[in-house]
Amino acid sequence: MPDRIEISHRSKPIPCAMCGQHALHIGRILSPDGTLLGRTLVCTVCRPRPQIAAFRRAA
Ligand SMILES: [Zn+2]
Repeated sequence: MPDRIEISHRSKPIPCAMCGQHALHIGRILSPDGTLLGRTLVCTVCRPRPQIAAFRRAA
């Protein structure tokens, strides 16, 4: 099963360098059983589904 990224919408979004909108959130990378693997920045405008995009690049 793929890892998933959970975005915390309680955190205040910060400006994105790619699109310029305040849509950059801190996302938590979680394994299928809910273990925290790390954190990443996710722009909901540029990359609404970052985990899907990553798999498309790898394929
Ligand atoms: Zn963006």
